[in-house]
Amino acid sequence: MTIVSRFAPSPTGFLHIGGARTALFSWLLARHSGGKFLLRVEDTDRERSTQEAIDAILDAMKWLGLEHDGEITYQSERADRHNEVIDQLIEAGHAYYCDCTKEQVDAMREKARAEGRKPKYDGSCREKGLEAGPDRVVRLKAPLDGVTAYDDLVKGPIAVNNEEMDDMILRRSDGSPTYNLAVVVDDHDMGVNHVLRGDDHVNNTPRQILIYKAMGWEVPTFGHVPMILGPDKKKLSKRHGALSVMEYEKLGYLPEAACNYLARLGWSHGDQEIFSRQEMIDLFDTANLGNSPSVFDLKKFEWVNAHWIKEADPERLTDMVMDFIGRELGEEAAASAPRDKVLALVPHLQPRAKAIPEMVEQARPFIVDAASLPYDEKAVTKFITEEAKPLLQDVLNRLEADETFTHDSLEAVCKGVLEERELKFKVLAQPLRVAVTGTTKSPSIYDTMLVLGREETLARIRRALDM
Ligand code: GLU
Repeated sequence: MTIVSRFAPSPTGFLHIGGARTALFSWLLARHSGGKFLLRVEDTDRERSTQEAIDAILDAMKWLGLEHDGEITYQSERADRHNEVIDQLIEAGHAYYCDCTKEQVDAMREKARAEGRKPKYDGSCREKGLEAGPDRVVRLKAPLDGVTAYDDLVKGPIAVNNEEMDDMILRRSDGSPTYNLAVVVDDHDMGVNHVLRGDDHVNNTPRQILIYKAMGWEVPTFGHVPMILGPDKKKLSKRHGALSVMEYEKLGYLPEAACNYLARLGWSHGDQEIFSRQEMIDLFDTANLGNSPSVFDLKKFEWVNAHWIKEADPERLTDMVMDFIGRELGEEAAASAPRDKVLALVPHLQPRAKAIPEMVEQARPFIVDAASLPYDEKAVTKFITEEAKPLLQDVLNRLEADETFTHDSLEAVCKGVLEERELKFKVLAQPLRVAVTGTTKSPSIYDTMLVLGREETLARIRRALDM
């Protein structure tokens, strides 16, 4: 059987961490088996669904690389089809019109509660044979006894006594189909045979199975993934950090890191933490979806991101750094920033960077010229001292006299300066670093000077000596 999975977001906001993880699992399930991954936008709540939210969700999926197969299905465009199925159910005797008022239904529920039973609609209209009419809803004629059971891919066997389930409403009195009905019809029509979703939907599933059965349709395989918690073990919320996946794009996370980290929120393969996209596809197995809530851990996400930054192609990272220079420092800074210098610098930043903005911060001294380089005052006071200046002057003299400017020649110059005075490397390294970058943080001093180039390096040491 070809696996057909889907992601069915309600476009009422951005794609949050939990939604993205659900989408990723469904996508992995399909890609692992060479199946299909479909996308359905559940935009029936016209008040809360917006085009902006649809775009935000699509952008986030694109960023994560969760490409879907075929056209997007919009649930709102399928109301006629939903109603057609409801009519079929009525015709076949699996659904009926009900004219009970809200007050009546509330009273039934109250009565059941008072008698210690599960509150539910009492089926008053089941056998009335009512016709369509104003203020009438359509209800499913659900089985009164027996059990509705299925084997959840994540939670294992689940069984609900049918007597606990209402004759649920399929069509509201305003003619609109209800959520459970629409989901079942859409999943069936789209050929979906695997439904992975958040466990906030687990109570809908037995009800949806009743609709499948009433229609004589094949019931898909269901899996419900547990929710994501914050480090304090409470439901993940804004105060635990950003909830929108695209916030992490803005914070300079790589999409492969986001996918890797999201996958580990609920899925495991031994104790492996790092997975490439292809590895996840190859190894994905719903048997390894965990049944207890996962905890969102920003530190770990950062660590995963640092790993993927190390692995990333420097050209691609350079494009990202240039893009972030534009975002953070403005278009002008981006336009005048020498890309070749950034490209030369990036491999030296990769081993330690946790996210792109940190690389931008370290790239700043490299994208301006000596005259406009900002100097960190504290660093200058601490390191460009009267004791350090003669050393810097000596470095300058030697560099001026030698045009080679290679890693070896730079090392020889610095060693020469230090050996003559029997000084340790660190006495020179920090003053020299502050002199050429204006800061105390940069890659190795030789790499730093090499990326800057001879002219810039000399000009900067001269500027520092004038301080
Ligand atoms: N639209 C639902 C949601 O966003 C998902 C429904 C489903 O996956 O069946 O929660």
